[in-house]
Amino acid sequence: MTTSRASDPAASTTHGGRPRVVIVGSGFGGLFAAQRLRKADVDVTIIGKTSHHLFQPLLYQVATGILSEGEIAPATREILRRQENARVVMGEVTDIDLAARTVTSTILGRTTVHPYDELIVAAGAGQSYFGNDRFAEFAPGMKSIDDALELRGRIFGAFELAELATDQAEIDRLMTFVVVGAGPTGVEMAGQIAELAHRTLKKDFRNIDPRTSRIVLLDAAPYVLPSFGERLGGRARRQLNEIGVEVQLGAMVTDVDADGLDIKDADGQVRRLNAATKIWAAGVQASPLGRVLGEQSGAEVDRAGRVSVLPDLTLPGHPEVHVVGDMMSLDKLPGVAQVAIQGGRYAADQIRRRLAGKEAQGPFRYFDKGSMATISRFHAVADIGRFKFEGFVAWMIWLVIHLFYIVGFKSRITTVLHWLVSFMGRGRSQRVATQQQVFGRLALENLGPNFEASKTGGLKDEPVTGDLTGRESA
Ligand SMILES: Cc1cc2nc3c(=O)[nH]c(=O)nc-3n(C[C@H](O)[C@H](O)[C@H](O)COP(=O)(O)OP(=O)(O)OC[C@H]3O[C@@H](n4cnc5c(N)ncnc54)[C@H](O)[C@@H]3O)c2cc1C
Repeated sequence: MTTSRASDPAASTTHGGRPRVVIVGSGFGGLFAAQRLRKADVDVTIIGKTSHHLFQPLLYQVATGILSEGEIAPATREILRRQENARVVMGEVTDIDLAARTVTSTILGRTTVHPYDELIVAAGAGQSYFGNDRFAEFAPGMKSIDDALELRGRIFGAFELAELATDQAEIDRLMTFVVVGAGPTGVEMAGQIAELAHRTLKKDFRNIDPRTSRIVLLDAAPYVLPSFGERLGGRARRQLNEIGVEVQLGAMVTDVDADGLDIKDADGQVRRLNAATKIWAAGVQASPLGRVLGEQSGAEVDRAGRVSVLPDLTLPGHPEVHVVGDMMSLDKLPGVAQVAIQGGRYAADQIRRRLAGKEAQGPFRYFDKGSMATISRFHAVADIGRFKFEGFVAWMIWLVIHLFYIVGFKSRITTVLHWLVSFMGRGRSQRVATQQQVFGRLALENLGPNFEASKTGGLKDEPVTGDLTGRESA
């Protein structure tokens, strides 16, 4: 039973007594699971913390002014508008009760309890600072549209401040950009900042020359793109050097503040790197809902917060609870979009079979379609089965595949136009950065619990206490 400031019975009841499938998360796992249930005789409720589905692999292009946020984040409600058995609910899931078979979500003080017969949990992962959460204040991660827009403001803003500065040391600090983490996200981000500084902005300023910017890609590991193997990783490193990115490996960040970073090198020496803009692309931590599920089901939860699932992606003793994507741990599968997509579809198929009284399908088998990362325009690396591609061919493969997975025809058209502007020309069509984007996160954190949602025109209706479901759970 949940005490709510206000309730929304309509959001928690079911239509016509069909089995209720609740999906937590509208990312790759959640959305593809919902779509797979399109023809099933069930009521699907997909609950998302945001109103959009996010194509995370292109976040770095929003942060560097190539794409607009709308192109990679279509409204979930719009995507599912023709799927009549699906309902979209916005809210953050704060609790899951496996015994009562309910999920509790909350938004701006309104709490809703959603009973389920089948549950798919696909709440993904957030940034991990490896126990140094204080770094987040100075080195934002890249996991959400908010993060990408904040970074866009910080990157373009650093050039603006450098144009005004008179002290050379200060200009150098403002024009040094450090990306922590040499995985695909870090490589793509560093490559795009280099292109921005060396191509796009080169004629835009009068007092500074953006081409003198210093772009540093750091990693504690000794390789760039370790999951791609030595050959492609080495190729990526050479290409980064060619476009002006300084790659520093075996370099562990020990502290971060507003002015720069402390770094411990492989030989144990500690040094200081002054940089106004720091970007954290180094680690992930699964949704805290993983621990909630682990505590109640006895499933193991690893240090990164991922829940160990059974081979059919369910929890021990709970065949009705499926965990997919970045939140789950099974056979060391990587945290990539295809694992989430295939896992979401598998869970949906499992539900359809069970409800139809059919035998369960075999264990989840991941089909590895390969991985790729862009370094700069016309240069990428791709590792697809036995084949390894680099340079322009890999970049073309990257382009076609990403275009295929962007959701929505309109977004594909405008994305192609923006890519033409940025890759054939030098422009970036999305250079808007507002103060709210740059300072909003820190301002909200400072306000803390004093921030009142009602000041924004939020909920006004009366508090209600009680069971909102109107129906016993199965
Ligand atoms: C910058 C970046 C670049 C990447 N590049 C690639 C790439 O090139 N190729 C690749 O294969 N993979 C890439 N990935 C990884 C890939 O995006 C993830 O593996 C994939 O998104 C995982 O899908 P998911 O459904 O598990 O989680 P997500 O897609 O993260 O979705 C999680 C959803 O759950 C919602 N949510 C979270 N908590 C709650 C809550 N408490 N209540 C309600 N909703 C909640 C979120 O809002 C989100 O909608 C990248 C990731 C990042 C961050």
